[in-house]
Amino acid sequence: MDKKAIEKAVEKIKKSSHLTAFTGAGISAESNIPTFRGKGGIWDKYDPIILDIDYFKQNPEKAWPHIKDMFYNVIDKARPNPAHYVLADWEKEGLLKAIITQNIDNLHQKAGNKNVIEFHGNTRDLVCMDCGRITPVQQADMSKNPVICPHCGGLLKPDFVFFGEPIPEKAMKESIFHTQNADVYLVIGTTGIIMPASILPYQAKQNGATIIEINVTPSEYTSKLTDIFLQGKASEVLSELNRQLLRN
Ligand code: NAD
Ligand code: ZN
Repeated sequence: MDKKAIEKAVEKIKKSSHLTAFTGAGISAESNIPTFRGKGGIWDKYDPIILDIDYFKQNPEKAWPHIKDMFYNVIDKARPNPAHYVLADWEKEGLLKAIITQNIDNLHQKAGNKNVIEFHGNTRDLVCMDCGRITPVQQADMSKNPVICPHCGGLLKPDFVFFGEPIPEKAMKESIFHTQNADVYLVIGTTGIIMPASILPYQAKQNGATIIEINVTPSEYTSKLTDIFLQGKASEVLSELNRQLLRN
């Protein structure tokens, strides 16, 4: 880990008045949830068409078994890792104002964060394609294929954003607020290529925020946008930042 860069980041975080974190699949990689891209990523094993909204509507009985395999069988068992816990501590201390996450795994909430903006929805709930009612996963018969609505028998879809679907309006509004008002913006474990989420760090920078990035490898942001790049695993880098913050 780059000691100088860590020290610079600690200074910025300590002095920040509105610290916002923007997280991607990389922060949950150490909780054994595979990322989409990269070695061992989900797209090595599955065809992204499964998460296309039109394909899903037309072929729900083909898509659902894969969706269960990819997400529900994995995410149910997953536990937060030290990276999630550091962010929860920072929120409790009043240092971190919000997390904007692209993840759908609920791990920020499991770690204790309250102000989590789920840009891409979540896996906790299912939404009926016919009557629009929400059914929590625990109340649905997940052994059925496809999974159907207990109210009307319509097709249930995970309440996360599929390819071809818009971003939930409330999440979009809140994300813009915590992006435009941030003076320090922490970008953790994201490739920066999923639109429109990937635009957020650019907006933060335009509004004058310092961009601190944590990733195991350089991303789309690193050379274009990042002010301080902390190369390493999210759990290790965040734990080190936290140790130094506590020492100061
Ligand atoms: P991605 O899979 O495209 O990229 C993951 C990024 O994390 C890469 O840049 C990689 O270098 C980095 N990374 C891997 N391990 C890391 C570690 N230990 N510490 C720090 N960085 C690490 O993910 P994305 O950019 O977030 O976009 C993919 C989309 O897929 C998102 O919309 C997200 O919702 C969804 N997704 C979610 C989950 C989840 O909920 N956990 C998992 C897979 C994909
Ligand atoms: Zn219904």
